[in-house]
Amino acid sequence: MNLGGRGLTSTIIKHEVPADCHALGKDNKLIFAPGILAGTKIPNSGRLSIGAKSPLTGTIKESNAGGTAAHKLARLGVQAVIIEGGSVQLVSLYIGKDEVRFEDGVELDNLGNVGVISYGRKKYGDTVGVISIGQAGQQKLSASGISVTSPDFLPRMAARGGLGAVMGGKNLKAIFIDDTQGTTVQPVDKEVYQKSLKQYVAGLKAHPLIGGLKALGTPLLVNMINEMGALSTKNYSQGEWEKAENISGEKISELMANRPNSQMTHRCTSGCVIGCSQVFTDKKGKPIVSGLEFETLALMGSNCMIDDLDTIAEMNSICNDLGVDTMEIGGAVAVAMEAGVLNWGDSAAALALVREIGKGTEQGNMIGNGCHYTGKKLGVSRIPTVKRQCLSGYDPRILKGTGVTYATSTMGADHTCGNALPSPANPDYNPSASSGQAPVSQFLQYYFAAVDSLGMCLFAMLPPLDIPELQGAIASCAAALQGISVDENYLIALGRRVVEVERQFNIKAGLGKEQDRLPSFFNTEKLAPRGEVFDVSEAELDSVHTA
Ligand code: SF4
Repeated sequence: MNLGGRGLTSTIIKHEVPADCHALGKDNKLIFAPGILAGTKIPNSGRLSIGAKSPLTGTIKESNAGGTAAHKLARLGVQAVIIEGGSVQLVSLYIGKDEVRFEDGVELDNLGNVGVISYGRKKYGDTVGVISIGQAGQQKLSASGISVTSPDFLPRMAARGGLGAVMGGKNLKAIFIDDTQGTTVQPVDKEVYQKSLKQYVAGLKAHPLIGGLKALGTPLLVNMINEMGALSTKNYSQGEWEKAENISGEKISELMANRPNSQMTHRCTSGCVIGCSQVFTDKKGKPIVSGLEFETLALMGSNCMIDDLDTIAEMNSICNDLGVDTMEIGGAVAVAMEAGVLNWGDSAAALALVREIGKGTEQGNMIGNGCHYTGKKLGVSRIPTVKRQCLSGYDPRILKGTGVTYATSTMGADHTCGNALPSPANPDYNPSASSGQAPVSQFLQYYFAAVDSLGMCLFAMLPPLDIPELQGAIASCAAALQGISVDENYLIALGRRVVEVERQFNIKAGLGKEQDRLPSFFNTEKLAPRGEVFDVSEAELDSVHTA
């Protein structure tokens, strides 16, 4: 079975990185891998997987982002870039056709991602793809991520797990990719490929979810999740918020309708047929951020009780430039609010605190090291993390299948590993049932590990969950591309293999079933207003993984 994306990064780490190594030391490796389908015309196939041992969670880690880098690397025939050891001085890496070289990075020192991107465009022209870290990665903060440029040179973050700190630890500031002499990846079996691709694209475009994502992007989830009573609010003490409407996709759409230069449909990668991203502008039409996502709105908005979209967008923009995870930072600001460092809903104080990260102050370092670190430092007892990674915007007391994923995923709390949302196509699934969640989470964890290995955007792989024929179509595309044959279990077998490799690494790193637990307040504190607790048994949690 061929590997790519997350499957490749995790397999290399499992075999080549000592599980007990220091994540910021020379023995850790940082790996960039396009997915199996990258470099083709398959829509939404341009995710870049980045993997290493995580300085945040201590687990194996894969975080992925859209942008142009995955397609560019695949067009150059590059399956993976593996960064080993470390440089004494700050460097950048240039990758072109048949040419790879390190360059002096002194001019890039202490630049944010926006400055690095601008440098790369000036030096290499407008066809370059840029992978970079901001100041947070250079400071080796545990919440730092890695930016990958979109086709219009906006930063998209592989945000989770502190991978920016691993890159900073190696003194690598940026990778510039020049694919001007690259070529589109061609399928071995053109006929089967074209037929399967046509079937997949038709099914994808006809699915009702796609229209919603095109119109409002992931912020369409704010009102939906709030109505379910599962929206992370006031550091996970409420599941509904009376001001949720103010940070909803509908509100963003209304606001952007009157602002020049805004876009409600924007593509983070070429070939995307959904365009779930947007360009959020200020009143004068100055672009503030692209890709104001549900998770940012939930963690920096409702979870901090901030309902001012302009402030949330500004915090998002600062985080993208510094190169930190908005979810981890939102979670950290909320526990700081719980500790009384600033008041709930104080948007000016929250913005000022986020700005501290770039200044390298004690408070900035605290927040920049994420939710767990901040909560411990401030003596907060309710810290919403698993394996030191902050939960997403879905409260696990209502969405219990997602709670099982938070607890048991190989990555720490991570909704993208298997978010068990209800679907009209699956009316019998009860997301709040206290049993029967483990098989759902396990299936989704395998499925999305396969999606990450193909390099597909997960939104483009939601319709196949409802329509199994589309899973067959995408598997058939992968097979025809590589000239191999696959059976109907291809995706799940691929995903299972990846998760098992990751699990083996984690066990060696000392992270097994005892760590597969949610913080105890989710088990004991009733979530207002529905009164639910997370009551999935430990035996059921332990049944997700065989080891
Ligand atoms: S659907 Fe959204 S996240 Fe996925 S590739 Fe398109 S713009 Fe990027």
